[in-house]
Amino acid sequence: MTTHRLGDTTITRVMEQMGPGFPANHLLPDWDPAILEEHGHWLAPNYYQSETGKFVSSIHSWVIKTGHHTILVDTCCGNGKNRPGSDRFHMLNTPYLDRLAAAGVQPEDVDYVMCTHLHVDHVGWNTKLLDGRWVPTFPNAKYVMSRIEREHWDPSLNKSLRTGQAEIFTDSVLPVIASGQAVLVEMTDQIGDGLLIEPAPGHAPGHVMLRLISGGKEGIFVGDVMHHPIQVYRPEWSSGFDTDPRLAEQSRRQMLANCVARNAQVFPAHFGVPHTGFVRQHGDGFRFEFLESPK
Ligand SMILES: [Zn+2]
Repeated sequence: MTTHRLGDTTITRVMEQMGPGFPANHLLPDWDPAILEEHGHWLAPNYYQSETGKFVSSIHSWVIKTGHHTILVDTCCGNGKNRPGSDRFHMLNTPYLDRLAAAGVQPEDVDYVMCTHLHVDHVGWNTKLLDGRWVPTFPNAKYVMSRIEREHWDPSLNKSLRTGQAEIFTDSVLPVIASGQAVLVEMTDQIGDGLLIEPAPGHAPGHVMLRLISGGKEGIFVGDVMHHPIQVYRPEWSSGFDTDPRLAEQSRRQMLANCVARNAQVFPAHFGVPHTGFVRQHGDGFRFEFLESPK
């Protein structure tokens, strides 16, 4: 388990699962295999499986420990959730909480859970099953989410949700609202000192990022503003899961430019090994400089 340090803050990745996921042209409908000529040497095997044409992706949380608080960014898919649409999400039984404990965090230690958005793979461990009921996994945490997300994915407020989406809200978001632990924020907001919420809509209507400033350094937890490192090189390739692909592209370009300008370490939600790095200017566009994991 690798721990990164930014100023006075530590950041540790807690994995739920990693491996080949969606076919490349399913996650990114504009995917063109010709790009492998230029980028194949670094894409395979960590980010792309040549034999199957699938992207390799990780589903993980980031644990931020400041001097004052423990913050969990995104909570993966969770155990025992009924998600018949996908094997990667359905009725999982992973040792996620054991891995969190290995990172030095018990559920009661978590002060904030930051949900960048309310999709299936970002809210799962918000809750756990106890005596047949979904209850908050983190009893002392405030669960931070944008008001726009909370309203968009609530089946009592939005009648146009697709099959399965209501269930995600009901088993993984509603229980933390019912317990009084949900904190709704605007698209620009903050959690204490040095943790700023920034807008990045498009993948989901109220998608936000979390920007960390510590000891003169910056990190940014970008959620699903990009799913895969090839999007650094092709920011116009939006995900097939985006609510608004063009707005997602706009948010991605803005994020990439800001990361360059601020020299911010980027902590995406789904990049393969080594999971984090820096965006650099490259001609008119960008490149990604992966950070080799310190041992
Ligand atoms: Zn995701």
